[in-house]
Amino acid sequence: MPNTRGGKSPATFFLDRDGTVNAAPPPGLYLTRPEELRLLPGAAEAVRTLNRRGHRVVVVTNQRGVARGLVTLVELAAVERRLAELLGAEGAHWDGYYVCPHAENSCRCRKPRPGLLEAAARDIPRLSLPDAVMIGDSETDVGAGRAAGCRTVRLAPPGTPSAADRVVADLRSAVRILTEGE
Ligand SMILES: [Mg+2]
Ligand SMILES: [Zn+2]
Repeated sequence: MPNTRGGKSPATFFLDRDGTVNAAPPPGLYLTRPEELRLLPGAAEAVRTLNRRGHRVVVVTNQRGVARGLVTLVELAAVERRLAELLGAEGAHWDGYYVCPHAENSCRCRKPRPGLLEAAARDIPRLSLPDAVMIGDSETDVGAGRAAGCRTVRLAPPGTPSAADRVVADLRSAVRILTEGE
């Protein structure tokens, strides 16, 4: 299976949150209560594998529910804390966590725009966007990754049409494929 850029594992893994690390809320709804948060099978193990192998892990998430008044900043922070706890309980952590709380077409950071990834590249020393991969379950994640100059993986059933470099079933499989040979 070809890597699109020279076969080297990406140094940085940008991960979407809902539908990639944790179970996504139903369409149109937002996670507001920490106790509703559920990790997807194999997600913590995948993040832990990245941590142990020295890859950076950066979560990048659209949370338009804030702009729509459906999620408060307090709820948003509580869900973030709970996600950190759930991952931490399995020996996994992130190195950066970036949220777009804005409405559509009102900012430079709502995916598929690249602003969250670019902010991480400014904040985190030696983060190189061409040496990063963006993994997410939605085509807006793919768009953000491409706009930032990263490799891209779409999490979806095989054969799903996508502009991504690869389509892979889930985060666990994506991490296995992208780190194989290490
Ligand atoms: Mg998602
Ligand atoms: Zn934004």
